[in-house]
Amino acid sequence: MALGFFKKKADPQTPPEAPPEKKGGGFFGLFRKKDNAGEAPEAAPAPPQPEAPAEPAPEKRGIFARLTKAISKTSMIFRRKVMGLVGLGKKIDAETLDKLEEAMLEADLGVATTEHLMEVLRSAWKNASIETTDQIVPFIRKDLKERLTRRGNSISYAPSGTTVVLVVGVNGVGKTTSIAKIARHFVREGKKVVLAAADTFRAAAVKQLQTWSERIGCEVVAGADKADPASVAYKGAERALELNADVLLVDTAGRLHTQKNLMDELTKITKVLGNKIPGAPHETILVLDATTGQNAVTQAEMFKAAASVTGLFLAKLDGTAKGGAVLTINEKVAVPVKFVGLGEGFDDIQPFNAETFVDALFNIENGDTEGDAAASAEAR
Ligand code: GDP
Repeated sequence: MALGFFKKKADPQTPPEAPPEKKGGGFFGLFRKKDNAGEAPEAAPAPPQPEAPAEPAPEKRGIFARLTKAISKTSMIFRRKVMGLVGLGKKIDAETLDKLEEAMLEADLGVATTEHLMEVLRSAWKNASIETTDQIVPFIRKDLKERLTRRGNSISYAPSGTTVVLVVGVNGVGKTTSIAKIARHFVREGKKVVLAAADTFRAAAVKQLQTWSERIGCEVVAGADKADPASVAYKGAERALELNADVLLVDTAGRLHTQKNLMDELTKITKVLGNKIPGAPHETILVLDATTGQNAVTQAEMFKAAASVTGLFLAKLDGTAKGGAVLTINEKVAVPVKFVGLGEGFDDIQPFNAETFVDALFNIENGDTEGDAAASAEAR
């Protein structure tokens, strides 16, 4: 049953108010008449503008600011513990490196990341490619950025037609909210989105998706309570093709009864989708709660064994001192992070950008090396 667009309904679970649509943007924008289309420009050409200052575009700044705020607890601990040790241009010695290792662990960078960083730092020090402590932070930043980007963080789209994104994850990690956020993200990019609520064992989650989607401006295809998830995925694919949608998002598999159940369900859904839309699913995104550490890693192992997970959505990155979890999960799960969730509203999503993330972790914007010194002075 396809549920309508644009209906307004009072609901106790009503999500936070969406900010006003950008002019011409979003799904509603598709129907908007272009202002002044075909009319001659009225005003004289504008006088030349003074040269823009060389600083990041406002949107980029906004993204950095939001991420910095979300992981501020992690970055504060990190700055306090690590930066104080390494700011001054002293000669590196074994003792400083030992202290640095301790500080990284205390700052919750995780054992795997810390071990890796210390190994590359020690060998760079031994072969004299770094010699003084002020070289340490730039070295770490560069290494972390490389490690976070090496598997590619952008979404794989279908070469043409509808891109199918399967979303998997255990109940309670923030899956429903994250799906709404992904839908919102695509709608804001001007894409037409259809959502298939194929996690049919959770009536409340289906209802929640329907409520959110009315606000977001996308259509939800749902089935009867406890219907076969693959049948809902199929109907979703049919509807997406009918509407010529850019993206079909399929919510599924919140339960982990057994590995075999999970695998059977995902295999069936994948097959049904692939029969209807060539190459589908083009992405399989696993939602993990970034605050759960080892649990998240264990869940990732289970889902990786059951389906070919192509990307991660790390939910709940905000407000905890767990920003370092991104690094740990990246090391251990070996699947690229594609999105992060930074709050409970459907706009609290960012496509993952390793540059911005690492800069936010060090609270150093845009290669601002003066920030390194300022941070270490602050930390002392
Ligand atoms: P599901 O059971 O996995 O579908 O989880 P829900 O989407 O219902 O989310 C569970 C709880 O986590 C809700 O209270 C959400 O508001 C909250 N939540 C989801 N994503 C985030 C996030 O990125 N940040 C924060 N702070 N809370 C989140």
